[in-house]
Amino acid sequence: SLSQRLSKIVKVMRGQARLTEENTRDMLREIRLALLEADVALPVVREVLARIKEKAMGEEVIGNLNPGQALVGVVQRELTAIMGGDLSRDEREINLRVQPPAVILLAGLQGAGKTTTAGKLAKHLIETQKKKVLTVSCDIYRPAAIEQLKTVTAQAGAEWYPSHTGEKPLDIAAGAVDYARRHFFDVLIVDTAGRLAIDEAMMTEVADLHKFLSPAETLFVIDAMLGQDAVNTAKSFHERLPLTGVILTKTDGDSRGGAALSVRHVTGKPIKFVGSGEKLDGFDAFDPEAMASRIIGMGDIVGLVKDVQKSINVAEAEKLAQKLKSGKSFDLTDFRAQLAQMGGMGSFSSLMEKLPAQFQQAAGQVNDEQVQKQLRRTMGIIDAMTPAERRKPDLIKASRKKRIAMGAGVPVQEVNRLLKQFDQTQDMMKRMQRGGLSKMMRALGGMG
Ligand code: GDP
Ligand code: MG
Repeated sequence: SLSQRLSKIVKVMRGQARLTEENTRDMLREIRLALLEADVALPVVREVLARIKEKAMGEEVIGNLNPGQALVGVVQRELTAIMGGDLSRDEREINLRVQPPAVILLAGLQGAGKTTTAGKLAKHLIETQKKKVLTVSCDIYRPAAIEQLKTVTAQAGAEWYPSHTGEKPLDIAAGAVDYARRHFFDVLIVDTAGRLAIDEAMMTEVADLHKFLSPAETLFVIDAMLGQDAVNTAKSFHERLPLTGVILTKTDGDSRGGAALSVRHVTGKPIKFVGSGEKLDGFDAFDPEAMASRIIGMGDIVGLVKDVQKSINVAEAEKLAQKLKSGKSFDLTDFRAQLAQMGGMGSFSSLMEKLPAQFQQAAGQVNDEQVQKQLRRTMGIIDAMTPAERRKPDLIKASRKKRIAMGAGVPVQEVNRLLKQFDQTQDMMKRMQRGGLSKMMRALGGMG
């Protein structure tokens, strides 16, 4: 992964006061390979490298006490920026600032996840914005696809406008818009047909629908697992439709996130949401920083730690429960003890085999040595904190973060990641504290 490659370079560069022609060339080559491994398409890799090179050659890295670590920071920041790190919340939300009904047109290849996304999006708009949502399918080629939209619409608590094979997509759309107007719907989500590969008839059909509907949002739905093909697919849709945003689906799979970079590069449009899983609650705002971490590969540990927590045995769960019952709050010292306990559990790869298939898939290949190393690294960060900071992590602001990172010999981003990870664990602990012992035993005793 990129993180392994970078840490290798970091090691080499540690002790070298500045970047040289030679170590720069090595570093850029490693980054290039890692991005290609993450399924980032070649033209995108070139752009990323150019940006990184420019920044890395600038003041940010040259003259820095530790050029290797500074470089990791540059890579993380540039990937985040390319994926829209500077976009406002507004730009990433669905735009409904039009005369209702606001039409949302979904376009993408067959199997990209459009129909599922229609349900997820309807649920999102109902739950977070209390909107009245109508859906309609213009997929007149597959009766099952229309039924599928009906099902997910009911699950979302929205209303479904009936359509049939044999009708014309434009007639269906006209009927649905008319119905939505007369019944005061805020939003009309239009699901469309896709083909397995780009074809002209499909493009014309969806382009005609677009012309007729003048949608508030024209969202390109793309499968995160597409890899290298993402560029060509995105290009075809971008050329034919004035897209307003992107929804990246199937992020629960083991893709490395390259599609996110590729689609941003080609369309320049914000990735607004990511879908994960087939259930309707797997729908979240896109987080460019988290996606950058995923591409770099350092974020994997968070998911793994969560899974492993589920497999802690019952005796340990009981001990923890006693502690929670005594009312003492969970702090970083406890968190460190948890990590140490995990480190003592031995082989993670064999542990993973015991977990349900979806966890195994989410965690991917487990490298025991790497996991142990990461655990030690994480504990090292906690060790670099003062007792007061461990008790009260809220104290840890920018300058303390810097000091802790220096002490532990890691980039500041890793301190941030640890604090986020701790927050999530603490949240889980609080929820279990509220839920009582039995719930917690169930949550923690997955194996027992
Ligand atoms: P469409 O042809 O673009 O309408 O795609 P569908 O919504 O029918 O999805 C195709 C398949 O992918 C279905 O089996 C979905 O259940 C599945 N699917 C959709 N979104 C996701 C996701 O985020 N994660 C996973 N694992 N499966 C998904
Ligand atoms: Mg469909």
